[in-house]
Amino acid sequence: KIFQSLRPPTPLPPADEPLSLAHYATSLLRTSPTVTDLSSASFVIDAATGEVLTYAAFLRQTRSLSLALKRLYPSLSPNDVAFILCPASVHTPVLYFALMTLGVAVSPSNPLSSESELAHQIQLTKPKIAFATSQTAPKLPSPLHFPTILIDSPQFLSLLTESTIPPAAEPSALGPSQSDTAAILYSSGTTGKVKGVRLSHRNMIALTSGFYHNRHQHDPAQPDPHPVALMTVPLFHVFGFFMLVKAIAIGETLVLMQRFDFEGMLRAVEKYRVTYMPVSPPLIVAMVKLDLTNKYDLSSLSVLGCGGAPLGKDVAEKFKEKFPNVDIIQGYGLTESGGGGTRMMDAEEMKNYGSAGRISENLEAKVVDPETGEALGPGQRGELWLRGPVIMKGYIGNDQATAETLDAEGWLKTGDLGYINSQGYLYIVDRLKELIKYKAYQVPPAELEALLQSNPKIADAAVIPSSVVCLCCRYPDDDAGQIPMAFIVRKPGSHLTEAEVMDFVAKQVAPYKKIRRVAFVNSIPKSPAGKILRRELVQLAVSGPASKL
Ligand code: AMP
Repeated sequence: KIFQSLRPPTPLPPADEPLSLAHYATSLLRTSPTVTDLSSASFVIDAATGEVLTYAAFLRQTRSLSLALKRLYPSLSPNDVAFILCPASVHTPVLYFALMTLGVAVSPSNPLSSESELAHQIQLTKPKIAFATSQTAPKLPSPLHFPTILIDSPQFLSLLTESTIPPAAEPSALGPSQSDTAAILYSSGTTGKVKGVRLSHRNMIALTSGFYHNRHQHDPAQPDPHPVALMTVPLFHVFGFFMLVKAIAIGETLVLMQRFDFEGMLRAVEKYRVTYMPVSPPLIVAMVKLDLTNKYDLSSLSVLGCGGAPLGKDVAEKFKEKFPNVDIIQGYGLTESGGGGTRMMDAEEMKNYGSAGRISENLEAKVVDPETGEALGPGQRGELWLRGPVIMKGYIGNDQATAETLDAEGWLKTGDLGYINSQGYLYIVDRLKELIKYKAYQVPPAELEALLQSNPKIADAAVIPSSVVCLCCRYPDDDAGQIPMAFIVRKPGSHLTEAEVMDFVAKQVAPYKKIRRVAFVNSIPKSPAGKILRRELVQLAVSGPASKL
């Protein structure tokens, strides 16, 4: 009862060969038929400033920066961590690749993270160095026990073009071993607070190999000889991180937006003749709903790669009606699988609206009955498990969570509920894990619950995903997917209001984690072992908690 990928495996370098993801991706770039002249081909365009970095400049700057960092910080070694708090810019890919060349793991965080969120991430990853901007640096906890380089400073810019390079500082051409950590990205996993997901060079090399070889072998979905991709997904999230690596391996031109805004995106599509956009479902919903799309020439657009949250069948169909020439490739993955999992590849597969595609190359899947642990057959619903070279090494500093998520045979328990039909298409139907996805961003309930419980006027609290905005009309909020909703038990004598609860949380978390609905209850339903019975609360949210007050 193991579902094998129906795609032929793609070639991987021998696992014991020392090789960084940076070296692997740039060596594919040098042979990619997409780019013939590295010195003239644009690699990154900053849509806000119009600044352009050619591929040749990217390779030069990456080399210069990695050598300069080694000279300035000779003790930096493979598996050391670099914490990064920078909005996307032309420097971001250079920074990621220079660090990975040295074997230093990049750990980018959302620049909108609150100070306590950053402190938690830094405590997890114990960085040896940090990169920030003059705007984001003040949010880092002080005192810092490691150097911080501001990437908008003259010092950093000089490191990109340093000319006097001592030959002794030349990093090895091949770099770290593939099992070393390339990136630590943040995810709450199936339960609890945010954790650091350790993705090895090997994990990301395997994923890159799949995308590179399929692109060049049989990918009629992307017929454009020179893809121009607009990044609407953040580079600190696994989706954006991998899209960046893939763009380099293939030689795409990447249009970056420092700050996403919908009209700015449409303007950039028109201006740069964008052919491809990795997106999350809320953006597809916006493209369907908003007439603003008619104001711009979007005729260059041929493909959207959609993932990060479920895309409703009806939304996909409405999108095709409005944009018949734009295909949607749906994919499913999670930070713990480097973003890999399932995806669609050709026109035939793309007709399966509502599905997340078929198992990607080099991967296998199981659908497991959550009660009995039994592996199920086609069409039967259970928890999706994934196995293959893209699956993370584990959570940093949290062996217990790692052991609960990865079994002894290498299976990753995704916490997602779904089925695989007889043609191999995956349908995700629900989530067993606690995670809430607000506009495809992760909102870990446990983190918000701990925060709420620290409020002296709150006796107990639970946070769940609510997919209904209005209790009167029951109109589902397609745009956000799910919103975080808090159930609050007030302390005796407290008159805490809904607005006070929302405000209390909003002041302490990144904006996407805000509580957007509140209900007051007499008690939080719990199992005999004290576990919050979230399903009961989800039911209560749908049936109207007011009746239970
Ligand atoms: P993240 O680690 O932030 O990428 O979140 C991963 C989670 O997002 C998965 O475990 C799913 O719950 C959800 N997800 C990602 N892609 C899809 C999809 N195509 N359909 C449904 N849920 C998805």
